[in-house]
Amino acid sequence: MLAGRAGEMICLGIESTADDFSVGVVRSDGTIMSNVVDAFSSPDGGIHPREAARHHSEVAGLVLRRALDVAGVGMDEVDVIAFSQGPGMGPCLRTGATVARALASYFRKPLVGVNHCVAHVEIGRLVCELEDPLTLYVSGGNTLVTAYEGGRYRVFGETLDIPVGNCLDVFAREAGLRPGPGRPLGALVEELARGGRELVPLPYVVKGMDLSFSGLLTAALRLLRSGRYRLEDLCFSLQEVAFSMLAEVTERALAHTEKEELLLTGGVAANGRLRSMLAQVAEEHGARFAVVPKELALDNGAMIAWTGLLAYRHGLITPVEESYVRPRWRIDEAPVPWRSSG
Ligand code: AMP
Ligand code: MG
Repeated sequence: MLAGRAGEMICLGIESTADDFSVGVVRSDGTIMSNVVDAFSSPDGGIHPREAARHHSEVAGLVLRRALDVAGVGMDEVDVIAFSQGPGMGPCLRTGATVARALASYFRKPLVGVNHCVAHVEIGRLVCELEDPLTLYVSGGNTLVTAYEGGRYRVFGETLDIPVGNCLDVFAREAGLRPGPGRPLGALVEELARGGRELVPLPYVVKGMDLSFSGLLTAALRLLRSGRYRLEDLCFSLQEVAFSMLAEVTERALAHTEKEELLLTGGVAANGRLRSMLAQVAEEHGARFAVVPKELALDNGAMIAWTGLLAYRHGLITPVEESYVRPRWRIDEAPVPWRSSG
């Protein structure tokens, strides 16, 4: 069973929850051997699930080939096939799952379905060398404050409606901004926000430990259409309000859980203003603060491969007949036996 170095195993991970199709190859000593991503892009930066899924099936073969080539391994050296089983967009998830099932069946390898949100946390723990962080995971599809407690990753705060990245993206698109290669909509908002001078009042909605961004988005769009404000001021205000909400919930979760590490990940983690707010929260609580490097904070196959390895080594296997995708699979429903056994 064992391949590569003595006692080491190799896992190939497939990620396809939303706009990215990615394959990563990871060794059980934590070496990321390859991590190849091909992103679906539409002119306005939106994600149409069926179009994205078609993109994934078109590029799957090439991405797979490249991930193996970069890693310098053949399928015979791969011990485990992991795939993102959820949460995410159904058509996109099904494409990745189909590729994973085909590989596992044809090459007779064990298959492991991985929770996408757990994978974001686990790759962060690996590369930032953290033991037991509170994590803020903010992306185009998720807004989650989570930490390990009592055998699971518990949810300490989440969005009640749209994800924060989606809030920024929709605002940017309506403002006429168009994304470019390496310039996602959220980054364009950040650029404009740097020229902001005035804090325009916008609804700040935190309910208990949960967040709501749809009212904020609607209000920001109304002000945008009124033509009364500079776009820079609106971008600045949108960021200040949305990120203050995130910082408030994260801070309360940190105080409650008394975790000594704070991890920031997801596409929105690239934002300098959000980073500095959270760095301050961590400092006030004496917690170590870490941000996952961009290539591993975005959706990627390496995080799926790494988490698949952790799962497999703790006895988790997903039989093909149970490998149906789970578009709404919550992080607190996913078993994480490797955390309890150290
Ligand atoms: P993901 O869903 O993890 O692939 O991340 C994509 C999300 O991150 C999108 O909503 C982007 O607009 C957002 N994003 C990327 N860069 C930035 C940035 N500098 N500031 C805010 N959001 C960003
Ligand atoms: Mg993405």
